[in-house]
Parts: sequence; structure tokens; C-alpha cells
Amino acid sequence: MHVAVLGAGIIGVTTAYYLAERGHSVTIIERADAVATQTSYANGGQLSYSYTDSLARPEFLPQLPRLLLGLDPAIRVDAFRNLSMFGWGVRFLAQCTAAKAKENTAAVLKIAMRSATLIKELQQELNLDFSYGTVGKLIVLASEEEIDAARQKQVMKSEHGCETHVLSAMEAMVLEPALLAMEQSFVGAIYAEFDEVGDAHQFAVGLIEWLQANRPVKLEFGRSVEGLEISNGRVRSVRTDLDSIGVDAAVVCMGPWSGSLLKSNDVDPLIYPVRGYSVTLPRAENSPTISITNLKHRMVFSQLDNGIRIAGYADFAGFDSSRDKYRIASLLETAERIAPTAADYTADQKSPWGGFRPLTPTGQPQVGPTKTKGLFMNTGHGSLGWTLACATAESVAASVSEVP
Ligand SMILES: Cc1cc2nc3c(=O)[nH]c(=O)nc-3n(C[C@H](O)[C@H](O)[C@H](O)COP(=O)(O)OP(=O)(O)OC[C@H]3O[C@@H](n4cnc5c(N)ncnc54)[C@H](O)[C@@H]3O)c2cc1C
Repeated sequence: MHVAVLGAGIIGVTTAYYLAERGHSVTIIERADAVATQTSYANGGQLSYSYTDSLARPEFLPQLPRLLLGLDPAIRVDAFRNLSMFGWGVRFLAQCTAAKAKENTAAVLKIAMRSATLIKELQQELNLDFSYGTVGKLIVLASEEEIDAARQKQVMKSEHGCETHVLSAMEAMVLEPALLAMEQSFVGAIYAEFDEVGDAHQFAVGLIEWLQANRPVKLEFGRSVEGLEISNGRVRSVRTDLDSIGVDAAVVCMGPWSGSLLKSNDVDPLIYPVRGYSVTLPRAENSPTISITNLKHRMVFSQLDNGIRIAGYADFAGFDSSRDKYRIASLLETAERIAPTAADYTADQKSPWGGFRPLTPTGQPQVGPTKTKGLFMNTGHGSLGWTLACATAESVAASVSEVP
């Protein structure tokens, strides 16, 4: 079949790979001039197989008044800027029960564990250069309640083949001495030995080069997808601002921008764009080698080949990027305060970046066929698109291959 992949972020590029592996000819249509220029460009770099915990959980509810009053520097809620937030927010709050949180966490964990296997297989075959390493991950925990919750989830995770360890603060500091120089507000940590890091942008660039050299994959850059031509209930072509491209099937991989195209075809993927930020700084003498996630400050520190990536924050304000300068300055200021020797903060070049996480209320991505024959989606990966990319791409490629 001739399959169009709409969008060339990490999800689109991996989807193209697994479609090509199944023998389809693929055209990737992307409005930018290159791959992975948007949400997949400079994310936290964590292949976070072990930490798929749903953002919607009972513990979120008591935090809500504080968030709405703007008292958490890491989260900005500007509901009035984008009224679509209300409908999405109600659905999100409905997921904040213990049962739903467990169900959503387990569903995403299953996808993550499959991805962990697939990325290794892919890397064995293609040997791409993307700062890939099994460095492990430490999530520092600020209270005894967080430790208890981590112990409970540890059992469920283990049932899915994901082994984690709950450590005391001392054990964590022995494992990663860089923690000694960080804010000492943590009382323990979760350690996931097999979690990995990698640069999603570098990976996407390497994979697309390999695909162009080895598989029937065509790139149509600088073309904005405007709609689909459908006849007799089946996708016939993709309409772009320049022309129409005839196809047998199309997979929507437009991340935070997937909503309008899908809605005009009777599917609402319930995606809200949640802005986050990163900086990439040169390493310092005391940089961590293990990835660190600080839940209290909603920030991660990952070691990549080109330096330390510090990423985080979550702004619910629609597609607003007007406050990037202030938000990135705040991220940097907090990072330097809580981890003063983790990176070289004096560097001139800090590579500031912002991206919109395509978040669904459940935290689960939307993957598979739609009501329209030949129209598929692989979108809504929220905070974990890099981690989940290979598994959801494999899955949607399998669904496409079932089309008669
Ligand atoms: C601060 C931050 C840190 C993160 N850290 C991590 C992490 O450590 N680990 C992890 O697993 N995930 C992380 N994520 C999440 C991850 O980056 C995303 O889930 C992932 O990048 C989403 O990929 P995507 O391909 O769906 O979207 P995108 O990368 O945004 O790709 C969508 C593409 O569609 C194109 N497009 C849109 N509309 C059109 C159109 N009309 N026509 C043609 N093309 C179109 C866009 O130009 C874009 O290239 C983080 C995100 C943020 C913001």
C-alpha cells in the first residue's frame, strides 16, 4: 500500500519505519523543512520505561487550588486563554481516581516495556548515533507518603516485568554522588536501573537518513496538511496547501496539532497542548551520570553527548509561547538553586527550547484505526512520546497492514 504519514516528529518517523518494515511505500508529509523540529526537538531525553505514572491521580486533586492560584512555579494554568481547556479539564479530573490512575499507569507501562525491547532491536540493526545509553534513572521523593506510594506501584510494575528499587536518601547518594550537592529535601528515591537516555531529535534524523537510503520512503517537506479527500467512506488522498497526494491510507502523527484534522473526520483525540521547556548546558565536574527526576520541582536532568539537558514545567495555556523567555529563565533559576553543580550554568550557549506535549486526559496515546476506512492515528503521547514511540509505531503499522 501507499501510506501517508502526516507529521514528522518522533512519532511520524518511527511510524514510517515500521510501515516500511512491513513492505509499504510511505510518503511523509510535514509542514516544516526537517524532521523533529517541534515537540520532539529537545525534550528531556529520558527513555522512561519505568515511570509511566498517570498525571491524573487522586494526589493531584488537593494540589488543584494551589495550581489555579499560580502558587506552583512549575505549573501555569491560564484557562481563560483557551476555553477548550474546560472540557478537557473535566475529563482529566474524572481520571483522578485510584482505580483509573492504576489502569492508565499500567496501560502506558505495557506500551513502554514493548518500546524498550523494540528500540534495542532497532539499534542492533541500524546502530544510530543518538547519545543512547542505559544509564538508569533516579526519581527523588520528597515525603514518606511518596515513598509509600512508590512501594505500592513497585509491585504492579514488577508484575509487568519492570523492576524498580525504592532507596533511602543515603542509598541514593551513594549510587549517584552528584545528589550530595543537590537540594537535600528528598527522603528517598525510586531507582530504575534499566531506564535509558537518548536524543530524540538525533534519533529521528538518523532514522530518516537510513530510511531514505534503504526503503521506499519519500519526504514531502514544507507542505501543510489541510484535509483529506474521502469517497465511499475511504481515504483517497491527502490535501495539502500545495497539492493533493493520492494514498491508500493515512496515519495522523501531528502531535499537539492532530485535533483539528481528526475532528473534521469525526474523531476527537482529546489532546491538550501542555507547554514545557528545556535548556542544554555543558557538563560540569559534578554532573550526574544517572538521569535524575525531581517531582517536587517537576524537572529532569539527563546526560546526553552534547551536555546536560534540563527539562520540565507544565503550562496549560493553549498554544501560547509568548512567555517562553520568562518560563525558561525560571526553569534555569530553579535548576541552579536545587542543583548548583550539576551543569555549567555560566555557559553563553544554553540552547533554550519550548514544546507542546500532546496530552490526553488518561495519559494514554490514541493509536489505531478511526471510523473512516484507511484513516489511522498515532498521537497524544503526552510526556512520554520518545519513550513510547517504537511500540505505538509498531502497533499502528500492524493495524494499517490489516486494511483489505
Ligand atoms: C519539556 C518536555 C520534556 C519532555 N521530555 C520527555 C522525555 O524525557 N521522555 C519522553 O519520552 N518524552 C518527553 N516529552 C514528550 C515528547 O517530547 C512528546 O510526546 C513527543 O515529542 C511527541 O511527538 P510527536 O511526533 O507526536 O509530536 P511532534 O514532535 O510535535 O511532531 C508533530 C509534527 O507534525 C507536524 N505538523 C503539525 N501540523 C501539521 C500539518 N497541518 N501539516 C503537516 N505537518 C504538521 C509538526 O510540524 C511536527 O513536526 C517531553 C516533552 C516536553 C515538552
